[in-house]
Amino acid sequence: MYNAMGLCVSKIVEKKARMATPWPDKPCPHCGETITDLVMEMVPDPDQSTSEYAAIVNRKPGGAVTCPYCEGAMEYAANGDDLVQSTKEPLRYSRPKTEERARRYGEVFLNRHDVTPEEWAGHDKGMVGAFKGYRYAEDP
Ligand SMILES: [Zn+2]
Repeated sequence: MYNAMGLCVSKIVEKKARMATPWPDKPCPHCGETITDLVMEMVPDPDQSTSEYAAIVNRKPGGAVTCPYCEGAMEYAANGDDLVQSTKEPLRYSRPKTEERARRYGEVFLNRHDVTPEEWAGHDKGMVGAFKGYRYAEDP
């Protein structure tokens, strides 16, 4: 779809959405898999009030999160665009939150009640292989 100026409207909408949420669409600095969405809403609620969380959501250095594929620690580079390796203790995703999100996605879009986080990441985010064997925040 194109507007009067010949610009692709869907691209503009997509760009606006990307400015509002940390959807980097960048390779993991450890394993090279593409991170289409950092799914920061899957971090446990108490962790979402930390300065580390705020740094990631605002695309700034100062907070790390695991890669959902290889669990390596990564954070935003100073350019606010690239993901770089981090020496910080990374935030991890919450098992109940991620499983619930996957289940709800499956019910709405796949008409199934048993969708796993791996399936959700592949279907919804295009991140095939993410969350496979992942150690969640609550896991020992
Ligand atoms: Zn990785």
